[in-house]
Amino acid sequence: MIERIPELPAYAARVLDALEAAGFEAWVVGGWVRDALLGSASHDVDVCSSAPWRDAEQALRAAGLAVHETGTQHGTVTAVSDGKPVEVTTYRVDGEYSDARHPDSVRFVTDVREDLARRDFTINAMAYHPERGLLDPYGGEADLAAGLVRAVGDPRERFDEDALRVLRAVRFAARYGFSVEQATHEALAEFAPRLAFIAQERIGQELTGIFATGRMAWALESERDVMVAAIPELAELVGFAQNSRYHDRDAFAHTAAVVGGMETVTAGCANDAMRWSALLHDIAKPACYSEDIAGHGHFFGHPELGADIAKRIMRRMAIPTEVIRETCALIKLHDYPVTEKTRSIRRTLMRCEELCPGRGTALAFELLDLKRADALGKAPHCWSYCSELDGVSAALRREVHAKAPLSVRDLAVNGGDVIRERGLAPGPGVGAVLQGLLSAVVEDGVPNTRDALLELLRLD
Ligand code: ATP
Ligand code: MG
Repeated sequence: MIERIPELPAYAARVLDALEAAGFEAWVVGGWVRDALLGSASHDVDVCSSAPWRDAEQALRAAGLAVHETGTQHGTVTAVSDGKPVEVTTYRVDGEYSDARHPDSVRFVTDVREDLARRDFTINAMAYHPERGLLDPYGGEADLAAGLVRAVGDPRERFDEDALRVLRAVRFAARYGFSVEQATHEALAEFAPRLAFIAQERIGQELTGIFATGRMAWALESERDVMVAAIPELAELVGFAQNSRYHDRDAFAHTAAVVGGMETVTAGCANDAMRWSALLHDIAKPACYSEDIAGHGHFFGHPELGADIAKRIMRRMAIPTEVIRETCALIKLHDYPVTEKTRSIRRTLMRCEELCPGRGTALAFELLDLKRADALGKAPHCWSYCSELDGVSAALRREVHAKAPLSVRDLAVNGGDVIRERGLAPGPGVGAVLQGLLSAVVEDGVPNTRDALLELLRLD
């Protein structure tokens, strides 16, 4: 199957040649080899070599390449070949791991097979050389063909060394639509709690990576223990019965269905905030649960509390501020009633603009997608709400087209007009009058024209 590997790009071949001309051995390793076997060679090229980094640097410079010392403590330098960076790392094995993540030391070795043995999954533990072909001591090619993520060696040891691999396994399986091999899967569940030792920021990056595959729903359903360990707040949703006629599954299964629903309704093009909001929209349901005398469950206040919990989770994971803001706004509004009526649409736009200044319109469309996804995660009799939302979308488009005002900035009059017409001094009083005009436009259908608003100012 080696002939299936696309040609190594010339810039990368130059790096191998430079190292081998100086008497060392060099191979392309990791992601490029994996993706090349899958027929997509768009990946960065990483090289490993028998050359100690100082010798590698010298050999690369001698061949006319620029070299940067990007990680010499682990034996890595970066060559720049035809303007493209190629990382070159000395064959190495990891020492003891005492913190569930970083080896206490690395030891440089002379055999590439030892270097491959320290890598996480068989599909990531292959090396390739244009003349010597594929070096695949752990059966990575067969696992690629079978669609399996399998740890190199004993999975329990590998997850014990570095708990981040637990999430990497899920990310790679999600990315390619693979399954996790049985022994690896069992070890995942056993070692998932060790994610508690991993930096929250790294967990956030892996979760963002899993979202980007579009298969977060699969991850939640198939590797639940890992996902709950990554976000411990999800634990309370598992098995949480909603006692509601709208729901036919527990809160966790509903959440997974909404996450999947979001991919369906957006054809896989949701942004990060839409994806996070699908995952966390009901996170506060257990905390807000109450039962009426008929035994029906209610969740008063869960959108607001959910937004607070989401903010806490996402901040600790160092998710970008704009993504957090938008996610929290969507969670806060996910049960906000929106109808086709002009007033309802304008109110929603205004609320969206208040929560995400400058993004109100986009947020309103995202909110309708969250509502669609949410409906798809409920009992079948709720699914028809999606077609009602089509009417709401059309009405929203109409209002946006008609330039419905989102904030006082969009009114046909400004603070100067208020000061002049009302004889007010500049200050907060002016803002309050403008807010009153905005509400007259949104709530009472007063046209947003200069004449109509000036008349209103003179009347009051
Ligand atoms: P991606 O397309 O996500 O970048 P990749 O395979 O290049 O995929 P990297 O995280 O860039 O993944 O790592 C490069 C290689 O280093 C991997 O293919 C794997 O062989 C090895 N590797 C990376 N992280 C680990 C880890 N935590 N434990 C063991 N091996 C790892
Ligand atoms: Mg990479």
